[in-house]
Amino acid sequence: MQIAFIGLGNMGGGMAANLVKAGHDVNAFDLSEEALATAKANGCATFTDAAEAVQGVDGVVTMLPNGGIVKSVYEGSVIGKAPEGAVLLDCSTIDVATAKEVIARAEAAGYDMVDAPVSGGIAAANGGTLTFMVGGTDKAFGRAEEVLNAMGKAVIHAGDAGAGQTAKICNNMLLAITMIGTTEAMTMAKKLGLDPQKFYEISSVSSGYCWPLNAYTPMPGVGVESPADKGYQGGFATALMLKDLRLAMEAADSVDAKTALGRHATEIYEAFAEENGGLDFSAVIKTL
Ligand code: NAD
Repeated sequence: MQIAFIGLGNMGGGMAANLVKAGHDVNAFDLSEEALATAKANGCATFTDAAEAVQGVDGVVTMLPNGGIVKSVYEGSVIGKAPEGAVLLDCSTIDVATAKEVIARAEAAGYDMVDAPVSGGIAAANGGTLTFMVGGTDKAFGRAEEVLNAMGKAVIHAGDAGAGQTAKICNNMLLAITMIGTTEAMTMAKKLGLDPQKFYEISSVSSGYCWPLNAYTPMPGVGVESPADKGYQGGFATALMLKDLRLAMEAADSVDAKTALGRHATEIYEAFAEENGGLDFSAVIKTL
């Protein structure tokens, strides 16, 4: 397929390279010259205008910072510019309302479009092992699947337009809550004189079992190897977790969903991110 890829940052750069590796012809566009130079070295054709990059393509993939930018790129450079038969895939993490709005506009103009946010960070984007949670019609999902398979290890149809973003923010709200809970329990056990490694050995096979404790242990030298063992470098940045929590709270308010712990987790990450936005989100243990 011929695919336009817009947004070649930390995530999009590796994803576009994996489309090339899978045999697709990729037209790359980004505002950053450095990102374009990397895309060129990875085998993409590069463009200095998004509307030109989408000419004649079979599909368009976007991986952009936020909903405002996604909306302006689709309205200004994709809808009405890409061929009508093209399938459109937005892989950015954005608010549910904007995702639904952009998809509705694309559909009204005759396109099939999905929201397809990802789970997995930069390493998974580079390695082609992302998980995609996809919202859209059965037809749009069926068309998007081939493109997504080239960039990920799992592609799951979550439901209608916006369902991918909903799955992503609900998952990450749960992750923030369980991470904070895990750090509190481990720190409290230590303060009470229990060896944290013993606590890990017991709780990880008891009812305290959860992903932060079992697969991402947030205390250095305890449990499995994780960013905690590398000074909380790498992993999933606190600033990105905060972005997702804010999107989750906005979505919760829009449907009057009660999220007492999600809101408290957001407040904790807001305070922590002021000086630690670049650290892995498990570094929130430092606040205890
Ligand atoms: P990034 O800032 O590294 O990349 C964004 C890219 O978009 C930049 O290269 C920027 O120049 C480009 N861009 C901005 N405005 C543009 C425009 N109008 N036209 C063309 N290009 C434009 O961000 P990232 O880490 O790659 O994240 C991208 C998306 O993926 C975000 O929505 C983020 O929430 C999501 N995400 C990131 C991670 C992660 O670990 N980094 C994990 C999961 C999801």
